[in-house]
Amino acid sequence: MIDVEPINLNTMRRAIVWFKNDLRLQDNETLQKAVEWADEIIPVFCYNENWDTQTQFGTKKIGKHRKQFLFQSMMELEEQLAERNSGLVFCKGNPIHEILRLAKLYNAQRVYAKKEVAYEEITELKNLNEQLLKSGITLELYSTSTLYHATDLPFSIRDIPEMFTNFRKQVEKDSIVRNEINTPDNFKSPQLEKVNWSDYFTPIKNDERASFHFIGGENQANKRLTEFIQAGHINHYKQKRDQLYGANYSSKFSPWLALGCISPRTIYHHIKNFENQYGANDSTYWLIFELIWRDFFRFSFKKHPRDFFLQQGISKKTIEFSHNKNNFVAWKNSETVQNLINAFMNELKETGFMSNRGRQIVASYFIYELKCDWRYGASWFEEQLIDYDPCSNWGNWAYIAGVGNDPRGGRIFNIDKQAEQFDKDFSFRNKWLSILSSEKSSNNIESNTIKT
Ligand code: FAD
Repeated sequence: MIDVEPINLNTMRRAIVWFKNDLRLQDNETLQKAVEWADEIIPVFCYNENWDTQTQFGTKKIGKHRKQFLFQSMMELEEQLAERNSGLVFCKGNPIHEILRLAKLYNAQRVYAKKEVAYEEITELKNLNEQLLKSGITLELYSTSTLYHATDLPFSIRDIPEMFTNFRKQVEKDSIVRNEINTPDNFKSPQLEKVNWSDYFTPIKNDERASFHFIGGENQANKRLTEFIQAGHINHYKQKRDQLYGANYSSKFSPWLALGCISPRTIYHHIKNFENQYGANDSTYWLIFELIWRDFFRFSFKKHPRDFFLQQGISKKTIEFSHNKNNFVAWKNSETVQNLINAFMNELKETGFMSNRGRQIVASYFIYELKCDWRYGASWFEEQLIDYDPCSNWGNWAYIAGVGNDPRGGRIFNIDKQAEQFDKDFSFRNKWLSILSSEKSSNNIESNTIKT
């Protein structure tokens, strides 16, 4: 039980800083504004009790890989806060009740948190705000997860172009990426007990076949940033980014970005420094180009917070699906007739990660060959992906299904051709299909099909 010191409300300003998917100290406007205003801050993370219950698609909102990454990130955040004489309050439950309870417990007059763009999260903030107001507590919200700040866009949210190219060209021409906000030097908190993390999570073992082992936390994100950029891997990014396997064909920044262990602005300025030192090229630009895709989905969600989760997406097109539960199960469990699909889905289940090319191929197969309702696929990714982010996930799925921002009306990939182009020597499939790895020396695989 925490002993909360009585405070003089006339003189002492206290604020709850509600960390969600912004688990960092550097370039975090929410934290900076709270520290500027308050005499004492109480950093909080609330594990939403609904994350472990079933969604309407029979999946969970978080699987074991992201859970591990999340807890690692929180543990590191707590350590960094402790170095600054603060700490982290961890709680589990309904965030609206928990944040309200903690604000009252600590006599906080304000709650600082990150702004949201997706429907459920916006609704949660709206309900929290109503509850806080009843107790005279103010909710202060800041946009902290995009490269371009929402207020620097050259158009209103209502007028955001529906096509990526139009969005990108205008922001590149008329907006600038702001400087980073430095970690506040001094902040004070009341005495906070150290969290006993082992009460909440048990580490899982990494699959040795994974091309990259992700560890959550801000320091780990910065380590990867230096590793990918300073070592020069970024110089080959554009040519290599479609590969299926390997530690450095792509940046692997996505899990840290998704949980906010690093900001896209930090990555951007790091790339710019590299360009100033060693020169710019197609590849250094292309990584920024991909971060603009990420922004595009976030701002599109701001415009259509609910529609991206509907079957007809933002296009309002009615699509005929003959959704079959058995096909969904076969796809999830790597039991389709296509061994390339099975290999990708196995990699996803065992590691929580899949290349961008892999995600496009399995999504296309799910929608156009298995004729399943794309939202089931998106919700399976939501459970499994270590880098799950509502906008990037549901936005990309809707795009491939032809109900999102794609003016060409969806993306169909020919699986045999993809296998021939990206896994000609079967090395990827051999790695992820145990049935094949045990037979790999026999080298008798001629077809992409293992089950009929
Ligand atoms: P890199 O190629 O190194 O790219 C750098 C960064 O740019 C990424 O970390 C990511 O933040 C951003 N980025 C790259 N490609 C995209 C893209 N197509 N859309 C949005 N942002 C992009 N990405 C997620 O972060 N979370 C998701 O839940 C997610 N779900 C996806 C679902 C499908 C069906 C598809 C096709 C793509 C999805 N992506 C998602 C986008 C992309 O596949 C991953 O961001 C990328 O593979 C992560 O690896 P990386 O960090 O090495 O990427």
